[in-house]
Amino acid sequence: MFELMVETHFNAAHKLRNYKGKCEKLHGHNWKIAVFLKGTKLNKTGMIMDFGQIKEEIKKITKKLDHAYLNTTSPFNKINPTSENIAQYIFKKMNSLIKKQQCEVSKVTVWETEKNCATYSRED
Ligand SMILES: [Zn+2]
Repeated sequence: MFELMVETHFNAAHKLRNYKGKCEKLHGHNWKIAVFLKGTKLNKTGMIMDFGQIKEEIKKITKKLDHAYLNTTSPFNKINPTSENIAQYIFKKMNSLIKKQQCEVSKVTVWETEKNCATYSRED
């Protein structure tokens, strides 16, 4: 099996609902995200998927989140904009964007700060 990883980031504001602590107040983060793709078959070029194309697909997802107030941006107007929920959202969106490729998303990691991150992967 092969695994690729592409890292990117977006800036956004949020505040957590049903939470007592610093993050219940409006604040922003520079979220770093890492998208991992796995596949067993290489194309005729010898790739699972072109890195440039992966970046383009991720950009379609982060474009909506970048410089946004997540609490008023779907689906985070309904679900809490935690790193866990953001990781799951990007995982599902990315998988539907690349469904014609010979690979799939294996996990997505979202760093809220340099030292704190959440990872979502498919349950097996
Ligand atoms: Zn926060």
